[in-house]
Amino acid sequence: MGGGQERPKVLLVDDQAVNLQALHQVFQADCQVFAATSGVQALQLASAHLPDLVLLDVVMPDLDGYQVCAQLKANPLTAHIPVIFVTGNRDEESEAKGLDAGAVDFISKPINARIVRARARTQILLKRQSDLLRQWVYVDGLTGVANRRRFDELSRIEWDRTQRRRAPLSLALVDVDWFKAYNDHLGHQAGDDCLQALGDALASGARRAGDLLARYGGEEFVLLLPDTPLEGAVALSEQLRATVEARALPHPGSPMGRVTISVGVACRDADAPLPSLEALLQAADTRLYAAKREGRNRVAALALPH
Ligand SMILES: [Mg+2]
Repeated sequence: MGGGQERPKVLLVDDQAVNLQALHQVFQADCQVFAATSGVQALQLASAHLPDLVLLDVVMPDLDGYQVCAQLKANPLTAHIPVIFVTGNRDEESEAKGLDAGAVDFISKPINARIVRARARTQILLKRQSDLLRQWVYVDGLTGVANRRRFDELSRIEWDRTQRRRAPLSLALVDVDWFKAYNDHLGHQAGDDCLQALGDALASGARRAGDLLARYGGEEFVLLLPDTPLEGAVALSEQLRATVEARALPHPGSPMGRVTISVGVACRDADAPLPSLEALLQAADTRLYAAKREGRNRVAALALPH
């Protein structure tokens, strides 16, 4: 079904074993199949395996199909996975309810294998195209972390969201120390390799759900940390600084002899009310320069003078 790519992952959900078996036969040759017999199990498998498609029974005890679908759509991890309802009850009211919950299509029980296969193929194709688009639009081509566009969009959303909830929003600007000297000594290809290695190192340290690591430009990265007070942001930044130092990537142009980073951290919360996202960025930038001035390979988060 995928045509040369990795086999699509399909999650089948039905509380009746006989229905699961019928669906399984349709997909087993072309797809990697996961099966769940309850809504709770469906949610677990969906988060764990991130399938390309979910075929979802409507009528189930405990969590029904509408509830499962709504929960999948509410979770950013699984929100973009298409859901097709498989239902014995195709009246307008239940279709409208399914569409409201976020379903993309409906299939009638008892299933017809050709129809199921054709509809599934269409949705998997669309999903893969939108996955690719997301990659192109939001991922930095060199480092594989999120790009500036993604940061600009998400930081604005998180600024508003955290402000509404009176929650803190922290930001850490990361800059590679003596990066121009690195390129001068080792060349731009090595410079690109270094940025890739740093992207990996930083991404391995910033893995809490909701955190965003992005390439901000040149040799600068940025971490957006919603619901994180200043102390938390400083602790994470310090951990990242130590991670990069511990990788011991040789840097002949640095007095440290290895690749290091400087980090400027700022936070907007009740104690430090900043008027705008730009002011928060400016604060982080000022502190980044302080970290540079104080000798590099360090995290700076001093409060700004009022
Ligand atoms: Mg059922």
